[in-house]
Amino acid sequence: MVSPELEFEAAVVEEKGGPFRIRTVGVSGPRPDEVVVRVVATGVCQTDAHSRNQEYPVPLPVILGHEGAGIVESVGAAVRDVVPGDHVGLTFPSCGHCRSCRAGAPANCEHGFGLSFGAARLDGSNAYAGSGVHGHFFGQSSFARYAIANERNTVRLPDDLPLTLAGPLGCGMQTGAGAVINSLHVGAGESIAVFGTGAVGLAAVMAAKAVGATTIAAVDVNDARLALAEELGATHLINGKKENTGERLRKIRPGGFGYVLEITALPAMLALAVEVLAPMGVAALIGGAPAGTKAPIDMNSLLNGGRTVRGIAQGDSRPQTFIPALAELYRSGRFPFDRLVRAYDFAEINQAFEDAARGDVIKPVLVMGE
Ligand SMILES: [Zn+2]
Ligand SMILES: [Zn+2]
Repeated sequence: MVSPELEFEAAVVEEKGGPFRIRTVGVSGPRPDEVVVRVVATGVCQTDAHSRNQEYPVPLPVILGHEGAGIVESVGAAVRDVVPGDHVGLTFPSCGHCRSCRAGAPANCEHGFGLSFGAARLDGSNAYAGSGVHGHFFGQSSFARYAIANERNTVRLPDDLPLTLAGPLGCGMQTGAGAVINSLHVGAGESIAVFGTGAVGLAAVMAAKAVGATTIAAVDVNDARLALAEELGATHLINGKKENTGERLRKIRPGGFGYVLEITALPAMLALAVEVLAPMGVAALIGGAPAGTKAPIDMNSLLNGGRTVRGIAQGDSRPQTFIPALAELYRSGRFPFDRLVRAYDFAEINQAFEDAARGDVIKPVLVMGE
């Protein structure tokens, strides 16, 4: 066996739902289009938890993590966008060659699911194979001190954006903000309801406020999250456990909402999203439901009034331009996503997941260290 070019600690999930165990793994060197990143910090996203629980078919044992931020350590011979020493954020992978990628829609890449959850490169190879673990999760496997990314999912960041904060821009933050800004083009004076105020929903609330939406209704079952949603720009708060969400929304906007973002992934909530839309309104599904989930949408509510239901992946982000734009928005004070973040040492990864699952923390960030 060829000896690995780089050895480092990684948090490995060995069995379904099992704990993260810190192990030393080795990887072969970067391919011409790859970038080796020393991970400074990485966000924890719901999708990591779903993958650990095998709700997505990720091969085990695996190194998860897909909101990495760090410093470029080395680059393959063909890499042009970044050089060693650059501060970078890592984001979702895309192939660059399919119809969606060529159309400028990498978030809908035909190979996106395989590249994200297959825990291998597009050609099926795995730089971590010598260590008996799967890597390349979302093209990064950032729950580790180093990540092997592709140039396509490596985004250069401004030096003054703290790397201990930046990671979530690569998934959760761009997913919520991108839905509002890139996908739905929510405009000044418009109305939006956000179902689910976790990290993605709160990013959507901040973005809706930033673009000038004047009615921003936040729906959740957690009062602490709703209180934060209000501080970040929500104009109306609805606790779905304590009151009838549909009735409240109809009272707030008797003519219906221009937009609804559905992030809870509950079929009844997607059906309700359509019910509370204004004519010509758009209900956008962002929350990932278990495979095979169906929603009981009233067909005539769609037909009459020309309403739309659509899905949105990764906020239709073109990461190389949208992530720097979000960084600018943060710098200007209009996207204060640091309010969602709580830092943990890398060694506290299991605690971070427990706290997030209980809803105590909205966006854990694991810090490997500068
Ligand atoms: Zn994510
Ligand atoms: Zn593609």
